[in-house]
Amino acid sequence: MKVSVIGASGRVGKAAAFCLAEDSVVSKMVLLSREKSLDKIQGESLDMNDALAAKDIRVSITASSNFEDMAGSKIVIIAAGVPRTPEMTRMDLAIPNAKIVAEYSRLVAKHAPESIILVITNPVDVMTYVAHKASGFPRNRVIGLGNHLDSLRLKNLIARHFNIHVSEIHTRIIGEHGDHMVLLLSSTSIGGILFKDFSQYQSFDVDGIIDKVKNAGSYVINKKGATEYGPAYAVSNIVKTILNDEKRILTLTTYLDGEIYGISDVCLGVPVMLGKNGVERIIKVKMDENELNAFKIAGDAVKKSTDEIMSTLEGQFDFK
Ligand code: NAP
Repeated sequence: MKVSVIGASGRVGKAAAFCLAEDSVVSKMVLLSREKSLDKIQGESLDMNDALAAKDIRVSITASSNFEDMAGSKIVIIAAGVPRTPEMTRMDLAIPNAKIVAEYSRLVAKHAPESIILVITNPVDVMTYVAHKASGFPRNRVIGLGNHLDSLRLKNLIARHFNIHVSEIHTRIIGEHGDHMVLLLSSTSIGGILFKDFSQYQSFDVDGIIDKVKNAGSYVINKKGATEYGPAYAVSNIVKTILNDEKRILTLTTYLDGEIYGISDVCLGVPVMLGKNGVERIIKVKMDENELNAFKIAGDAVKKSTDEIMSTLEGQFDFK
């Protein structure tokens, strides 16, 4: 099982690569970067190999700036992008990152035409659309990480608030990985009990928690310069689910074509059944009125940004 990571010299790329190797899901991993970062990723691969030896894990990790080396990959992770500084919004990154993602997606289509693209680069919902159009891959083979990480952050906050083991919390954030994320409170449960029926529900500040999830990435970036472990382990969950054909339901950015309340031609975070073919089914969620309104607002906002970005790329890329 071969996986390639583009932008592997970056903090998310290298953390995700190490996490995947440590989980022993991949047998072969290629760290890819631009020529100028080649030394860095060569150093990363050597360092990772030492760590894996300590744990008796055998994974072939190679570093390369020749993108032909991604050939035969089952999954290609795109984590390359201009980094977000504390004062920047995810949308400030959109134009430079769209060019990077479009260029790399074309290379993926050329060298690993059967692969699944997992987009990490922000703003991830728009970038997933760009990757889908630039690669020409069917939509089941282009996914984005965003709301899965948001959902993990929310799960953590709920678990800590109620002092309950994190595995007992089932919850989801859908919509945009950004300001328009939507907490699916109506399908949140603790230990199998619907959240709203949970005895301490009244003490839970829903708006406060959603604000914390929205700002979780910026908060970490302010403190330590970047998020690493959270995205890396979220990536590992996704890759494992695909490679092991687990059919788990994860909340990922995917291209919608009217499946959820008629919203179409936009990539948004929704629950999907994930297996060896990528997105094997989009799960139609039942939302209450507030959730649905918020989801529609997220759809409109992401579509508007996507249209703006796609028009700036017009003429530069041959979109499918
Ligand atoms: P980083 O440490 O700055 O690394 C980004 C990498 O992108 C660089 O190491 C570089 O890789 C590549 N890069 C930078 N400028 C480039 C350019 N002009 N052309 C081509 N490649 C370029 O950033 P990071 O913290 O790892 O974050 C990477 C991306 O993931 C960002 O867009 C960030 O916002 C996003 N992110 C998303 C999520 C999510 O949940 N979706 C979570 C965290 C971060 P090489 O030198 O190896 O080529």
